[in-house]
Amino acid sequence: MWIVSKRWGAWLKRGHVSCWLALCAWALPVMGAEPVYVPQAVWVKDNVYAIVGPLGQRSSANAGLNANYGFVVTAQGVILIDSGASAHSAAMLEKAVRAVTPKPIRWVLNTGSQDHRWLGNAYFAQKGAELQAMANTVKTQHAMAAQQMSGLQRFVGDQLQGTVPMQASTVHAAPEKTLVIGGVALQWMETNAHYPGDTLIHLPQQSVTFTGDLVYVDRLLGVLPQSNVRKAQAAFERLKTLQPQHVVPGHGRVTDLAQASRETGDYYAFVIDKVGAAARNMDPMDETLKQWGQPAQFMHLQNFDELHRANMNRVFVDFEANP
Ligand SMILES: [Zn+2]
Repeated sequence: MWIVSKRWGAWLKRGHVSCWLALCAWALPVMGAEPVYVPQAVWVKDNVYAIVGPLGQRSSANAGLNANYGFVVTAQGVILIDSGASAHSAAMLEKAVRAVTPKPIRWVLNTGSQDHRWLGNAYFAQKGAELQAMANTVKTQHAMAAQQMSGLQRFVGDQLQGTVPMQASTVHAAPEKTLVIGGVALQWMETNAHYPGDTLIHLPQQSVTFTGDLVYVDRLLGVLPQSNVRKAQAAFERLKTLQPQHVVPGHGRVTDLAQASRETGDYYAFVIDKVGAAARNMDPMDETLKQWGQPAQFMHLQNFDELHRANMNRVFVDFEANP
């Protein structure tokens, strides 16, 4: 009899059915355990690639790489977007880049301040990469480094050995910055969506946007105490004006603006227009959370059961305090 855990079931449903047979061959003895994640480059457009991480929680099986990364191969070397959760996982990302190009990783850009976006910085800096970030990203990284290191330790254990938090040395002060790196044009802008100092990176020539944690697809986004859904909604509107053909979300598969709108933009609008409005209206919290607890258009998203109620809760409290 087949016993497939919820995680495996979701993983298979995600379109990995072709791996099913190969997987069974080695997975049978450890059925129920999480598959070991091996980062792989996914071609997006021209010389632009994404590395799509798993949708679940940080673990030693995924080395804390439960987020998306990206890289651009330029004539002068590789631009890496986000550096992984540790020195250990940075080396895994480097290997995925190596499968595409032997060129050195010369620049590392952090789109945000969550552990898996930047704790691999020092690994690449030691190999000569220049670390770049926006000022508010660096500020949040400084504020959260110690807490992130101890938090991550619980999930990945010994894999954190040799990891030293290192913030970017090239810091961009403006909320929006246009750059050319290795001949590639980039528009870099703050979103402040999931964490203060979160950013997105748009490549106008390739029409690709790396959204950082502004956009989640396939799984529900999380509204954290540090998140700001009003800023997120404004940033999502800005993203729409860029009209990218390809969207590399913070989490979930590489997609387009339509799916990003359905699964992220519409969700920001939903929590603001329904839950935020109720808080503003001084409606009772319990009734509001009950009324909007089962939105059909989002219930298929992974992590919905774990996150939606807490998300509504935070939005309600936020709008109650700041109507
Ligand atoms: Zn994230």
